[in-house]
Amino acid sequence: MNKKIYKLIKKYDNIVIARHINADPDAMGSTFALKEAIKETFPDKSVFLAGVASARFNYMGKFDHDKDYENLSDCLLISLDTPVKRLLDLEDLDKYSYKIKIDHHPKLEEYCDLELINDKKSSASEMVYDLINETNLKMNKKVAEYLFYGIVADTGRFLFSNTSSSVLKVIASLIDEYNLDIERLYFNLYKRPINELRLQGYMANNMKVTKNGVGYIKVTSDVMESFHLDSASSGGAINEFNNVEDFIVWTSAVEDKKNDNIRVSIRSRGPAINHIAEKYNGGGHKVASGAKVKSFAEVDSLIEDLDKLCKEYQGSENNENN
Ligand code: AMP
Repeated sequence: MNKKIYKLIKKYDNIVIARHINADPDAMGSTFALKEAIKETFPDKSVFLAGVASARFNYMGKFDHDKDYENLSDCLLISLDTPVKRLLDLEDLDKYSYKIKIDHHPKLEEYCDLELINDKKSSASEMVYDLINETNLKMNKKVAEYLFYGIVADTGRFLFSNTSSSVLKVIASLIDEYNLDIERLYFNLYKRPINELRLQGYMANNMKVTKNGVGYIKVTSDVMESFHLDSASSGGAINEFNNVEDFIVWTSAVEDKKNDNIRVSIRSRGPAINHIAEKYNGGGHKVASGAKVKSFAEVDSLIEDLDKLCKEYQGSENNENN
């Protein structure tokens, strides 16, 4: 499949690379890496990154403006890290001559002409590495750094269960070959304003736990404003509760006044949670999902569903503590 994707990249002079809304380091890293690899291999091609720019990722480099690519004709679209069309940070898909999807989320919807999906892969960035490695696309130090960002972030610094020996070998080879300054790269990825740490402290102080092991915290927009933060800043905080032994599943629900919704993040140490996230206008991976809901009443119902799930899990064979 990677060879077929390479042939299509070779064929088209105009290429737009898109990723999901509320971009994270894997969405960013994989798209920046693929653009850089295509430009390194085919300097004359026009390649653009679609999606809203975010100051949080300025360390990745320059973002493109939609005006740059909106009038291109005969253009290839490559979607990365985005399982469903509604989450793509790009509109008007019909105008593209051919569409490719490369994604590591479980398959939910087909919206491209060619879809390469592998939910065993740690990240979209690992899939871009494979694409480069198995074809004549060229790697350079910048590409290696972008891939490092995406892989490190989506494996939670190699803590999550999607960390395979092959992804560790990929990282080792990138560090070796391109002499990566990992201290600088880690700082770029994990630096944050003191107020985000204060929010995390608030979450830890106010987190509750249900009878069957669901840790949860609801954060209103007033609380967010008191920390001078918006809901986008809450994203990483949930991962900090990974090792709390009282939780099987844990979730944060952060009100976003500007967009009039509540952004939910869910994590699990055992039972698959993506089906429950899908029920609440969300989705994601088996053990890391997200959703957007309209009210805290919906959040309560989500917590109830998660609690039921944990109860079933505690009684099931899958639970290694039984
Ligand atoms: P987050 O908790 O925002 O870090 O998201 C964790 C995972 O859930 C990511 O892989 C996202 O792709 C997915 N996800 C987050 N929000 C949504 C949503 N509203 N709809 C579908 N998937 C989502």
